[in-house]
Amino acid sequence: MAHDDNLYDCYKPPAQEFVRGEGAYLYTENGDKYLDFIAGISVNCLGHGNPITVNALKEQADKVWHVSGMFQLTGAKQLAKKYCDALPFAEKVFFTNSGAEAIECAMKTARKYHYDNGNPQRYEIITFQGAFHGRTFATINAGGNPKYLKGFGPNLPGFVHLPFGDHDALKEAISDKTAAILVEPVQGEGGLRPLPEVCLRSLRELCDEEGILLIYDEVQCGASRTGKLFAHQWAENAEPDIMAVAKGVGGGFPMGACIATKAAAAGMVPGTHGSTYGGNPLAMAVGNAVFDEISKPEFLQHVVKVSNFLKQQFESLKDEFPDVVDELRGKGLLCGMKLKKPALDVRKMALEHGLLGGSAGDNTLRLAPALIITEDHVREAVGILRKCFKEAQSLDDFEG
Ligand SMILES: *Cc1c(COP(=O)(O)O)cnc(C)c1O
Repeated sequence: MAHDDNLYDCYKPPAQEFVRGEGAYLYTENGDKYLDFIAGISVNCLGHGNPITVNALKEQADKVWHVSGMFQLTGAKQLAKKYCDALPFAEKVFFTNSGAEAIECAMKTARKYHYDNGNPQRYEIITFQGAFHGRTFATINAGGNPKYLKGFGPNLPGFVHLPFGDHDALKEAISDKTAAILVEPVQGEGGLRPLPEVCLRSLRELCDEEGILLIYDEVQCGASRTGKLFAHQWAENAEPDIMAVAKGVGGGFPMGACIATKAAAAGMVPGTHGSTYGGNPLAMAVGNAVFDEISKPEFLQHVVKVSNFLKQQFESLKDEFPDVVDELRGKGLLCGMKLKKPALDVRKMALEHGLLGGSAGDNTLRLAPALIITEDHVREAVGILRKCFKEAQSLDDFEG
């Protein structure tokens, strides 16, 4: 089935094709309706077909599509200012088309900072087990997942991978070669694992003591998904030097950004970096519209309220199905459950019952709905999951 077209076979999509979307729902050609609780993997934060983003894109489409960074990009300047006004550390922004590119820019920025400060030997980037930072050469090496590295030649030097949450290992690994620590405040791909707020704070302290840079990957957990504009804002005094964002900040239009302090970005002068489409007017029109919406206090309050309701509902599901649900995971609307039955099978069952979900590492069912969902959508999803969990009881236990 996967071999009847000319696409690379890197994905194995189910037969359903979605031709129309509205809010939290997707529809097939013959009108079958699916409740979308994955939103293009944490992307369509305002739901499908939201007039706010649709109109922003259409209006810009009539003006100018593309000129590149070699000319003035007003939309990019506006959005950069919004990020910098909203985030105390933020002073400089580089726009990209994707999350991996935002991470690439973040890592280049960190190495250049040390190079320019007389420490060219500081090029190592420390990351943690379960990390995911993208699929380019540098980002698979940063992530360190052997499954993603295998077959693609020798590993790149300059990356150090440590166990998740092992402070002693971290202290030991830091040397005069360390440039930066790169971490997701909430691991997405790795199994929806939030880093405790106290850990974020101690990472910040450690980086200050050692003179190294702290980089957050908020590609998946940012854009108001946890109920704060960016997930690290739940922790006090834990701001990064550099942060990569993408996915939700574009609401479904491909865009990302690397956001940095002035000091960290000082070396990124003409000739050091570039991107043909970075700051593209269409992307910036959508990015500005998304930001204006997701940064409203009442929008963030809604995310907190609906995600608390979802958590309660998931807790009762866990009580009801102790032989299926192992552990609740995540933060806000980047959430899921570690299962005792194969998560991939449960995800397939959900699809058959009209619920779109995802899966992640550690045998977790991953859910990342649009942030505009209501309690009714949560009840509907929970109703479907209840059916799936009943069916899943007869499956063999998951064997890691
Ligand atoms: C998706 C993701 C990326 C990569 O983003 P792309 O847009 O697919 O390149 C990087 N980091 C995290 C945490 C992600 O979830």
